[in-house]
Amino acid sequence: MDQRVENYYADLVLSLGDYVLMGGDLPAQVFLESFLRLIPGVVGKQESVEAESFNDSFLDYPEYGLPTEWNGKKVPEIVQSGDHKKIADWRRKKAAEKTIHNRFDWFSKSNPSKGEIMVAKQFIPNHYVALMHTDVFVKNDMVGNTSITSLDIHDIARSCATYDITNYFIVSPLEDQQKILHTFLTFWRSEEGKEYNQSRFDAVTRVVPAIDLQDVLNQIKEKEGKNPIIISTSARFKDTEKKIIIDFYSQGRIFSLGRPILFVFGTAKGLSDNVIAQSNFLLHPIVGMSDYNHLSVRSAVAIILDRWLGINYKSEW
Ligand code: SAM
Repeated sequence: MDQRVENYYADLVLSLGDYVLMGGDLPAQVFLESFLRLIPGVVGKQESVEAESFNDSFLDYPEYGLPTEWNGKKVPEIVQSGDHKKIADWRRKKAAEKTIHNRFDWFSKSNPSKGEIMVAKQFIPNHYVALMHTDVFVKNDMVGNTSITSLDIHDIARSCATYDITNYFIVSPLEDQQKILHTFLTFWRSEEGKEYNQSRFDAVTRVVPAIDLQDVLNQIKEKEGKNPIIISTSARFKDTEKKIIIDFYSQGRIFSLGRPILFVFGTAKGLSDNVIAQSNFLLHPIVGMSDYNHLSVRSAVAIILDRWLGINYKSEW
């Protein structure tokens, strides 16, 4: 319609979604149907309206009807059990699983309660972070080692604690570097360190030393009984790499693979080809609206964890 009509008459402009139709009749029907059913009495059973997708943090649970067996496929036993409490718990779990695997974006902006987060976490595999001080490009595109910095230990540990990363591996095969790490950790984890800075003490409990990527993988396998999915990060990936590049909307699909997840971060000039070759996926670089792309690894970890696992509060204003 003429823009002037909208500008002059409309109090509210609505869009049904990011797609284009050939006229206003279908949107009008969809609009009416989705809103009218919320008026008490329009739908026979008010509970059906209250317990459906988008009313809370979860999509609707899977529904089953009759017959109890169809084409050899049975209605889950629990649904037929008649135990209302068990059925309610099962439905909530199934709803959470479906949401986390298919619509993590909805969950993360739905202002979930602590209880909902607890249920959701059952379907989010354990996450790990590795900071590589070895197997990285150093000067003149040579692969080598870098020094551990105290800031990267505790700042990244704080990010890891915020997003509930199970362990943060600091990876260096160099004995002197491991000693430095050990010295810091021993102090920060001591009673004296705890008294001096309790939140740092809490965060650094997640830090684990490792000598190389294989050591990280072994430690995760030992803990989880499964190999992790390795997701490597970089400010820019070379075009030639034959790896799947995932984006910040891929977490549900990755979670549904049911394996622990390891994010690998580099130092110096970034992860070596060897680390990239071992990765299952590469994460698309973080980009801003400028040509500058030299984030500190601390910032990169924080941004990536927030986009991947963050609860993104949505205000009603
Ligand atoms: N030139 C290096 C590269 O392309 O990866 C930058 C190294 S940066 C100092 C250290 C690490 O921070 C990187 O290996 C990567 O893990 C992370 N990082 C830095 N900028 C990033 C970005 N824009 N997107 C994703 N990760 C980034």
